[in-house]
Amino acid sequence: MKKTSMWTWIGLAVILLLSFYYLLFVQSSSAEKSQFEIDLAGMRSLTQADFEKKSGPGALNSLLIGEGAFPSGAILAGDSLISKTRLVFTAFQVLYPDGKQLILDTAQDKSLHEEFYQGEPFYADNYASLQSSMNQASWIVATHEHVDHVGGIAQSENFAAIKDQVFLTKEQLNGPTIEAARFPAGNLEQLKPLNYDGLHLIAPGVVLQKAPGHSVGSQLIYVRRNDGQEFLFIGDIAWNLRNIEEQTGRPLLVSWIFLQEDREQVAHQLRALLELKQSHPELQVVIAHDGDILERIRKSYGVGSSFQ
Ligand SMILES: [Zn+2]
Repeated sequence: MKKTSMWTWIGLAVILLLSFYYLLFVQSSSAEKSQFEIDLAGMRSLTQADFEKKSGPGALNSLLIGEGAFPSGAILAGDSLISKTRLVFTAFQVLYPDGKQLILDTAQDKSLHEEFYQGEPFYADNYASLQSSMNQASWIVATHEHVDHVGGIAQSENFAAIKDQVFLTKEQLNGPTIEAARFPAGNLEQLKPLNYDGLHLIAPGVVLQKAPGHSVGSQLIYVRRNDGQEFLFIGDIAWNLRNIEEQTGRPLLVSWIFLQEDREQVAHQLRALLELKQSHPELQVVIAHDGDILERIRKSYGVGSSFQ
């Protein structure tokens, strides 16, 4: 082989590798103008009557069920594949003055946690507390159907007692990814699908809005407390605030191989969320796995760190 042609081959191989690296880890879709509208006015209108009567949520509590970490470059396209970013797995409890409660996301049980995040912290006492609250809840809802959000429903030991209070949407129940939560045979079929279009007032002060993209069953969950503080739970549209602030989604490798998410839809939602944060800084956007946001809403926005 002539020397020049060897160098040509090496050069081509390097260009090919760099192209793959760019495509799989660096490139990210972004939207200059969002085609996704977050209907805050509609959410406020649907919750106005309960807000005026103070019959909406009196308190909002959080519970840390587990923790994990991903390479930063798996969360934010183009970021370091060596440094790590912390992830939290949480469940929330919306409490009403009359004693009723709504559970928002249920994390996953120890067996599923260890399968996906081996060696990372799992808080068994908090998980037990979540399960006992689920037994008393009038509504159990999820931002989306991924295992780390519905695993607590799928693995509930009291499934027969909670199933009529579970409100998973038709898209969540029929989505291709819910099987990872491993509902025992026959249980998934016992859940009655929630059907709605646009916005849906699921409980006083709590509104759902469909937001497919990260998964087919992803939805926004708006919570308006009686003291006027509003929260928007966005599930995993972003994994970290930087996804919104830097308008950069997950790398193609993660979106495509592990999640099968629609990156275009997510990009439009990330743009809409940035605009919402700028125009309505009073509203707290809660990113499911962002530990800094969890700390901030606990410290400054009256969110409890245990269930009642
Ligand atoms: Zn998640």
